[in-house]
Amino acid sequence: MNNLVVTKFGGSSLADSNQFKKVKSIITSDKSRKYIIPSAPGKRNSKDYKITDLLYLCHTHVQNGIPFDDVFKLICQRYIEIVNELNVAIDINSYLEKVRTDIENGASSDYAASRGEYLNGRILAKYLDAEFIDAADIIFFDESGNLNEEKTYSNIKEKVLKCDKAVIPGFYGSGADGNVKTFSRGGSDVTGSIISAGVAADLYENWTDVSGFLMADPRIVENPKTIEKITYKELRELSYMGATVLHEEAIFPVRDAGIPINIKNTNKPEDAGTLIVSDTSEATRFGTITGIAGKKDFTVIAIEKALLNSEIGFCRRLLSILEMYGISFENMPSGVDSVSLVIEDSQLKNKCSKVIDEIKRQCSPDSIEIHPNMALVATVGRGMAKSTGIASKIFSALSSENVNIRMIDQGSSEINVTVGVENADFEKAVKGIYKVFN
Ligand code: ASP
Repeated sequence: MNNLVVTKFGGSSLADSNQFKKVKSIITSDKSRKYIIPSAPGKRNSKDYKITDLLYLCHTHVQNGIPFDDVFKLICQRYIEIVNELNVAIDINSYLEKVRTDIENGASSDYAASRGEYLNGRILAKYLDAEFIDAADIIFFDESGNLNEEKTYSNIKEKVLKCDKAVIPGFYGSGADGNVKTFSRGGSDVTGSIISAGVAADLYENWTDVSGFLMADPRIVENPKTIEKITYKELRELSYMGATVLHEEAIFPVRDAGIPINIKNTNKPEDAGTLIVSDTSEATRFGTITGIAGKKDFTVIAIEKALLNSEIGFCRRLLSILEMYGISFENMPSGVDSVSLVIEDSQLKNKCSKVIDEIKRQCSPDSIEIHPNMALVATVGRGMAKSTGIASKIFSALSSENVNIRMIDQGSSEINVTVGVENADFEKAVKGIYKVFN
């Protein structure tokens, strides 16, 4: 039984008046849904604009001395339509006019972008007959741009908990200089997580337009199953490989507070969605996997040197070169006389030849080779740990699809097996692994 639930609604859940109605019926159907975090209106269809993008555009226009009235008109139309169609008693025109003049007078891009959530929050609070709490009054960043946890959590306790029902716009807070500061894109998820931790919610519901996480990318696997329950650890392994329904940073505040997240579908509220938990108390089904995720476009830098295994400081020198160039690496498989660095292409861009020269200079390898076009495929599942035959199943799936494995890596927690394959074999590999476990 949940007594206190924080609900976050994404942009597609609040894209128009019809979506607002669905949100209202979700909120009124369960009294424990007390605190509501809205995103800005998102796309109504694939050709539509997100309000956040339009607000950024207005800001850029002002910076470049270009009139922004036409863009701003599109923003006004969206909000006015929602207010009129829902008959919300709010003077939306004066709110819009304030935003317009602030942007015109050179407000920061963070401020401009944050107004999408602010205006939506104002409307939603009136529509739901809830208090409006400005996120700038309860979420605070420190000088380095990190969350000021102490100040934030004490303000949430003081200002949110006393309300029976409140709407708090997502995506922003106050910077150390007192000005509005946003999280990175998609950051309303993070706001919801922080509010959940601050009020010690029983559950954080994240309402979006899908019924939870799928076991594999539906563009690759036809009709993949929904993941019913996933641990935070498994999700980290999957989201790190590109499964993006939830903002990466949204996991930490609730995970640390032991609050589960439920990914739910505003358009199909009856679907159970995916529950993200710290640990599953029920017996894990051994031999099962939770999901498959992957990413293309990695480069392998393969280094060989005789007696490398006994040379002290070799890897430290190698990695310090990456640090020098601000490059993070994904994997570092090694043999007795060889070590490879697996690096995402976007990290290596324009720096590859400099990095190679530096490795030659500092590490004096016998040979160094560059192998581009590698994709990584991660098979993840708590049911894989301590169970036999999983790797053999993955490898035989790949062999029956005729996929050559270029690299193998298993995390020490035994909840993931990552293989490197040719970019061109990526889809085949994901399909093959999915098939063998379903
Ligand atoms: N509206 C913001 C964005 O589009 C934040 C969010 O939706 O979570 O990135």
